[in-house]
Amino acid sequence: MSVMPDPFETSIASLLRFIGESRRMAGFTGAGISTESGVPDFRSPGSPWMQNKPIPFGLFLENPAARREAWRRKFTMDDLYRDARPTRGHAALASLVAGGRMTAVITQNIDNLHQASGLRDDEVIELHGNGSYATCLSCDRRHELADIRLAFEASGEPPVCKSCGGIVKSATISFGQAMPQAKLRAALTLSLESDLFLVIGSSLVVHPAASLPSLAKENGARLVIVNREPTPLDGQADLVIAGEIGPVLSRIASEL
Ligand code: NAD
Repeated sequence: MSVMPDPFETSIASLLRFIGESRRMAGFTGAGISTESGVPDFRSPGSPWMQNKPIPFGLFLENPAARREAWRRKFTMDDLYRDARPTRGHAALASLVAGGRMTAVITQNIDNLHQASGLRDDEVIELHGNGSYATCLSCDRRHELADIRLAFEASGEPPVCKSCGGIVKSATISFGQAMPQAKLRAALTLSLESDLFLVIGSSLVVHPAASLPSLAKENGARLVIVNREPTPLDGQADLVIAGEIGPVLSRIASEL
């Protein structure tokens, strides 16, 4: 009697073979890699990120009331996910980078969990910024959230820069705000130089980030997507693992 091959084992074997044949693997993560830590993704049902209409960048700049509301929301969300720690997926990617198998990770996430898992800042390319600190929009000075929060809760007023008086904003990219050009260039270079492009936990609908897997593939890389739901790029991929990130990546890391 023949035994049906286990699809999970078949996928793991294919991914291990691709990694074994790769010399320049790039990682690309979305909100799905962090859900195991309790940080919800953006588009899954019940997402708290969808509860309020986003405050566009232009409104944040021109309207102090919008800035107050943005900071109120920011601190409310931070309280919900204050205890989030890197997942098995983050740990696996960190070990791939540390072992020289992956060059770096491009991320759409703003939760700082790749760095918390041990990646250096130059091993993470953050396309949408980082929500663990703030910056002055005029002079770029970094401001710490704990200081801002103390002052905000005492005065109710949105923060201004201690150096230049400019508007201070969480260091994330809002709707309508320009993408960080140097990061975008670095992500494009990494994608084009990769021979294996590993997408983890992204719906692949937010552009320009979601164009990178296709560009890598068109430039000769193998494309692998690990996501529990279908994505628009599944048809281009060499391998789609439609499952949970934690078990897949921890298994991969343990076999290498
Ligand atoms: P998304 O919410 O659009 O897509 C996440 C995908 O991950 C979904 O298709 C979902 O089915 C899948 N997924 C979730 N948990 C999974 C798991 N454990 N295993 C397998 N698949 C899983 O996220 P996106 O594509 O990153 O785009 C959303 C935007 O929102 C990004 O710009 C990002 O900056 C922002 N965002 C970031 C965070 C964060 O930093 N953690 C959280 C929410 C939103």
